[in-house]
Amino acid sequence: RLIAPSAATPAEEAVERALRPKRLAEYVGQPRIREQLEIFISAARGRSEPLDHVLLFGPPGLGKTTLAHIIAAEMGVGLRQTSGPVLEKPGDLAALLTNLEKNDVLFIDEIHRLSPIVEEILYPALEDYQIDIMIGEGPAARSIKLDLQPFTLVGATTRAGMLTNPLRDRFGIIARLEFYDVPDLAKIVARSADLLGAQVTPDGALEIARRSRGTPRIANRLLRRVRDYAEVKASGRIDTKVADAALAMLEVDAAGFDLMDRKLLEAIVHRFAGGPVGLDNLAAAIGEERDTIEDVLEPYLIQQGYLQRTPRGRVASAAAWRHLGLAAPGQAGP
Ligand code: ADP
Repeated sequence: RLIAPSAATPAEEAVERALRPKRLAEYVGQPRIREQLEIFISAARGRSEPLDHVLLFGPPGLGKTTLAHIIAAEMGVGLRQTSGPVLEKPGDLAALLTNLEKNDVLFIDEIHRLSPIVEEILYPALEDYQIDIMIGEGPAARSIKLDLQPFTLVGATTRAGMLTNPLRDRFGIIARLEFYDVPDLAKIVARSADLLGAQVTPDGALEIARRSRGTPRIANRLLRRVRDYAEVKASGRIDTKVADAALAMLEVDAAGFDLMDRKLLEAIVHRFAGGPVGLDNLAAAIGEERDTIEDVLEPYLIQQGYLQRTPRGRVASAAAWRHLGLAAPGQAGP
């Protein structure tokens, strides 16, 4: 799966880590977020205070984890990383919080999946750097307050709408990551090729960039597969022709859509006459989970104008019909 939401194997995880930019200046794209962070980080550092809590939201693979690490590096502090579903009990979070050093970053991925009892612990921690924990059970149970070091929470989520209001209100900095444009993705491909020792021409980098669904993780993933192809089937150099042939073999089409994207569009067009179709019906038709459709597949198709979300369900746009080689209802043929 080329558009799988996270690193698929330990080997891929290692490559992702190696390709991760370490400083803000190396982070490509997202100019508004970069500019804001530069100012806030330099102000916080000047006052020797922790940075305000930061919420990063946007589809998978756009660089949220990368930014969390960069924030810690630019602040010159340590980072602890966890994720919403991993924190099962209040004690799990309490243990992490009490181990933080002054101004450290705590990164919680998938923060929308924190359980309500764990979230309760977080509120006073975020506001007053204090936690209340219960010790003992039954009538002998009592609550004690613990002071924490000042710290910065960096939370990441695919959808800001899934956060509870009290949690969202506690973030001072809220940044929405956007899909990357082709020139920025080409820069990322060229940089990664350099780090991997792969040979890519500027046109070859552009071809990979165009077909990466606006997503750095996919750009890096495609680069590695195209490099394999170039080494076996060509001289090792990735130019437009080699990139195009390799991507065709990987069934990534000219719009950068892979099999799952096409399956989704085909289902709406062929089975539901272009829509509107509800999310549950669509999920059943293509055998995917609702969350995967909403978080991973749809955002790019919507941003590119192939799909619309309406109150009555999902609708394929004329561009989707054309992409499948069909005429949209009420329009002339392709
Ligand atoms: P997320 O946490 O949003 O799912 P990651 O931060 O794990 O995404 O990024 C996935 C991969 O994409 C990383 O390996 C990183 O190298 C690359 N990447 C993401 N954003 C950028 C960027 N702005 N510049 C360069 N590489 C990036």
